[in-house]
Amino acid sequence: MTVTLDLARPRADVPAADARTNLAGLSREALRAVLAGSGVAAPEKARMRAGQLWRWIHHYGATSFEPMSDIAKEARAALAERFVVERPQIVERQVSKDGTRKWLIRFAPGIEAETVFIPEVAASRGQGALCVSSQVGCTLNCTFCHTGTQPLVRNLTAAEIVAQVQVARDDLGEWPSPREDRKLSNVVFMGMGEPLYNLDNVAEAIDILADNEGIGISRRRITVSTSGVVPEIKSLGERTQAMLAISLHATSDLLRDELVPINRRYPIAELMAAIRSYPGLSNAKRVTFEYVMLKGVNDSPADAKALVRLISGIPAKINLIPFNPWPGSPYECSDRRAIEAFAEIVNRAGYAAPIRRPRGRDILAACGQLKSESEKLRASARRKPTAEA
Ligand code: SAH
Ligand code: SF4
Repeated sequence: MTVTLDLARPRADVPAADARTNLAGLSREALRAVLAGSGVAAPEKARMRAGQLWRWIHHYGATSFEPMSDIAKEARAALAERFVVERPQIVERQVSKDGTRKWLIRFAPGIEAETVFIPEVAASRGQGALCVSSQVGCTLNCTFCHTGTQPLVRNLTAAEIVAQVQVARDDLGEWPSPREDRKLSNVVFMGMGEPLYNLDNVAEAIDILADNEGIGISRRRITVSTSGVVPEIKSLGERTQAMLAISLHATSDLLRDELVPINRRYPIAELMAAIRSYPGLSNAKRVTFEYVMLKGVNDSPADAKALVRLISGIPAKINLIPFNPWPGSPYECSDRRAIEAFAEIVNRAGYAAPIRRPRGRDILAACGQLKSESEKLRASARRKPTAEA
């Protein structure tokens, strides 16, 4: 007889330590609905109460009801009986010698993902991008990416995506949400996972992050990177108005099939057609092509020329990313000279082609180095505790 315990869920026979609902990452609509349904606020008051809570949570960064001074004391006590305003647990926090910060966040037992804050080097007034994860692990397995070696555990919820921004803000001391000169000025969906395989939650999280009475990060400062989930690209633009980044990395199907295997399903011609019709694309709103520089694989002058031909006519910039190695990675980073020669060809064709400075390599926080120890539980371990003959 074997007994399997589900570690990822509370056991049915043990009361959960805290069954109160966490309000910290709910959308406005969900917040209203939860309040209205709870009896804590009379239905006609639920809308107003939700508005108050929204500002405390998303503008002031409150993590309890106590400071909510415009809500009567008894009402706060009633809220605290049913609800919490909580952050997930931070398992590990690392700071690189270049100022990059990385948090390993536990959202639930066995559900961990990494978030990275990258301060801009040249910025005089703060400014930096937060690189958030959209999934724990990834279903895809691009051959140069560390996350790709971790099978998908699960999608992150909108609240869990928003929590990554809240955790970073707590650590940066950036509450109440400043209107200008922000340290956390941009959000990029370039952490773990493929955001377009979790578009509902990504879109809801963007709505929460962009709300002007809360965190208020402009949609122009939110970038979603995809390896090329073609059928979702248009929908991403329509639903989020976010900036689009495409992990291109190769200009022929032969090579891209190998490096970015989703290319076998959605080949380059289909990908380029989807990009060309991305809603709102213009010279003021360019697509970013990410191109990882792999020595002897995709970094020749001929590759650069092919890239220029491929993207011809698309308002674009090209981010050249020196390959970041990880334990056991099968590639080497291109030589500096090769990267510069590549950039020069792309530049001369009229496209900005900045060479990304690797950031946070010493703490494995750079592009493509993220991974957590979370593992997908086997089907047998996911079932409720049972005794099997
Ligand atoms: N899944 C999405 C977003 C996360 S990856 C996507 O693939 O677009 C963020 C970027 O880092 C992608 O462009 C990815 O191709 C790149 N990347 C992955 N591994 C890398 C590595 N080892 N070195 C440099 N860039 C890498
Ligand atoms: Fe997944 Fe993106 Fe890594 Fe590819 S590069 S394995 S899509 S996270």
